[in-house]
Amino acid sequence: MFIVPEKEIAGLVSADQCFEAVEAVFAAMARGDAYNFPVIREAIGHAEALYGFKSGFDRAGAVLGLKSGGYWPGNAAKGRTNHQSTVVLFDPDSGRPAALVGGNLLTALRTAAASAVSIRYLARSDARVLGMLGAGHQSAFQLRAAVAQRRFEKIVGWNYHPEMLPRLAETAAEFGLPFEAVSLEDLGAQADVIVTISSSFSAQLMDAHVRPGTHLACMGTDTKGKQEIDPAIFARARVFADEIAQSVEIGEAQHAVAAEFIAAEDIVEIGAVINGTAPGRQSDDEITVFDGTGVGLQDLAVAARAVAAARARGVAVEVDL
Ligand code: NAD
Repeated sequence: MFIVPEKEIAGLVSADQCFEAVEAVFAAMARGDAYNFPVIREAIGHAEALYGFKSGFDRAGAVLGLKSGGYWPGNAAKGRTNHQSTVVLFDPDSGRPAALVGGNLLTALRTAAASAVSIRYLARSDARVLGMLGAGHQSAFQLRAAVAQRRFEKIVGWNYHPEMLPRLAETAAEFGLPFEAVSLEDLGAQADVIVTISSSFSAQLMDAHVRPGTHLACMGTDTKGKQEIDPAIFARARVFADEIAQSVEIGEAQHAVAAEFIAAEDIVEIGAVINGTAPGRQSDDEITVFDGTGVGLQDLAVAARAVAAARARGVAVEVDL
């Protein structure tokens, strides 16, 4: 098997390659060629950690494996990233381990790729203002991936902890784009596309804030109980998700379904839009919501790309288990 260390990942896969990998695996999921296994996520009663597995099999891409890891809140104080993950790939023909891959940067890249896919397929083509709700570690990756999808002219941002907003300003500056810190009212009033990427447990962006025509990529809610937007928004939106089962269980839609603003049957898998079997945005006035809960197959898809690149460049470490 091959080991691909975390420190090599940045030089192995680009954001564009992650976009292609995630788009392809969403399409395979909607065709029934790839499927995710149920997610396991547990508070382990040690170091206040949340630990779990996301796994699946992509028959079309012949990629089988899992991502394991979670959240260790005490890591940052020790100079480590709180989110930790590792991907293990297996040979689908023999079950033998094929690769062990550092999954921290890949997680950020594949999550940003998912919202970027949603923007490509669902945002208005004339979207010019990108709104960011959240300014943590993931937000910079989200912003970079989003700006590649439309001719954005300005970034506006709001964060629960305003002292973190310079991260968004600095990332916008990488693209020569102006950044404005705004209220939630102004975020909704100005933004054509809003990416939410916070660890909030209550609705921040309210129904009254969101204008017709807005595309929302809700990326922060990946656990039962988390919440970023008013569930009433779902009642007047067309709703898309990476995977419907995860969306209603651990995604932003959990609250809208519980409040009966929508039912699971109202949610469209984004892969169906990619495949052309379901319509995407149908009018300029429509509100579209993408519930990006983060599926294991995204991790496997980008890890497989990283392994191929690492082997081609001679930076994969071969070991015999
Ligand atoms: P981070 O810890 O670096 O940043 C946390 C963000 O949430 C900051 O913007 C912070 O201000 C905000 N926040 C903290 N407490 C809050 C509160 N009480 N109310 C509102 N906002 C609050 O985290 P990160 O790595 O940037 O991750 C952000 C979120 O994205 C997390 O919830 C994480 O689990 C989720 N995530 C989702 C996926 C996916 O595939 N959908 C992948 C990775 C991370």
